[in-house]
Amino acid sequence: MAPRVDEFWERPDPALAAAGAEGEWLVARVRLFAVTLLLITPTYKLIQYPQIPVFVWGFWVTFGAWLAAVAIWLALRRKFWRPWLGFASSTLDVSLVTFALVTFVFVGSPLVALNSKVTFEIYFLAIIATSLRYDERICIGAGMLAVAQYTALWVFAAFRYDLNDPVYAQGLGEYSYIDQFTRLILLTASVMLAYAVVRRAQRLLHLAARDRLTGVYNRGQFDLALEFEVERAMRMGHELSVAVLDLDRFKHINDSFGHAAGDRVLVEVAARLARGMRTTDMIARYGGEEFVVLFPQTGRAAAAVRVETLRAQIAAFPMLTPEGQELTITCSAGIAELPTDGLDGGTLLARADKRLLAAKRAGRDRLYSDDDELACQVEA
Ligand code: GH3
Ligand code: MG
Ligand code: MG
Repeated sequence: MAPRVDEFWERPDPALAAAGAEGEWLVARVRLFAVTLLLITPTYKLIQYPQIPVFVWGFWVTFGAWLAAVAIWLALRRKFWRPWLGFASSTLDVSLVTFALVTFVFVGSPLVALNSKVTFEIYFLAIIATSLRYDERICIGAGMLAVAQYTALWVFAAFRYDLNDPVYAQGLGEYSYIDQFTRLILLTASVMLAYAVVRRAQRLLHLAARDRLTGVYNRGQFDLALEFEVERAMRMGHELSVAVLDLDRFKHINDSFGHAAGDRVLVEVAARLARGMRTTDMIARYGGEEFVVLFPQTGRAAAAVRVETLRAQIAAFPMLTPEGQELTITCSAGIAELPTDGLDGGTLLARADKRLLAAKRAGRDRLYSDDDELACQVEA
């Protein structure tokens, strides 16, 4: 199933963003490890042939890549992660390979670049690594950049130099445009594979992260995203709120109309909640008839307005049982915000749950967002 273009350029959902941040950290460690090993040969060559330009430049380009790898590793170790980092680091990976090849054109021979045995293959590592960001925009963007850069390099070398001149061969094989074309096909194929990996990961994560009945996130995924977002909000000084919603007297619906009717109500409530969310908000089914919502960069007051709107909509529009009977559903909710109500996800949820309990005790069908006031109490 191909994604639509407008869906395609949307940022990944919070669960995938969290997986992408972990992927970035993994790539940073592998990059540092690989570039450190890759530095051994150019260093050795530089010591052996300090006067040959291609070895001198080979060393400095690899050393530059090593510095970049150390910088990214250090930044991520200090928990510096931004949504754009995956774009930047994968663009850098791809461009460094191209830069190394371009250097070979100018200081060695164009055939060193076009028939390079090791440097060209690093494109494949960079392209495979894009899939670990779990973001198809990064995957396609950086992958096609590699194809475009290599095409430009080839076109430039082919027009600028007589590549069939034996003076360039230097034991590097002959110039073959069919080989060059094959290289471009292989690069494109690896981009397509990396993209397929991202799509499959998205589908598997969808299966693992969603509640089977309602299609919203499940508890495990919510807890992961909450931890990730709380840490980010603390670091950046952003606001963050969580809401806990529980359907009122739901057992009565099961008892009176049957379990299937209860299930339909849960599906409909989840759909109404999901429709009222921004793409950055995350809604999950936390337990039987209990839903939680994570509002990043949103304070208590703004979250209360949004939850109250949703709560009022659920109460205002009755749902239908399989037999066509109208059911009016109400729910109660509690809200807590970072940092006033707690400094970690568990404490925030406990505070929101306490307010939910207070809302139930006060008669249900209402939202409490504060300990001492009845926020947004509904006219029955
Ligand atoms: P309160 O207003 O105090 O929340 O009352 P309640 O009846 O909603 O709460 P209670 O915890 O007593 O009952 C929750 C019910 O939700 C009991 C359980 O059978 C039902 N339930 C839990 N999961 C599902 C489900 O997946 N499908 C259906 N149909 N019912 C479920
Ligand atoms: Mg209930
Ligand atoms: Mg409950």
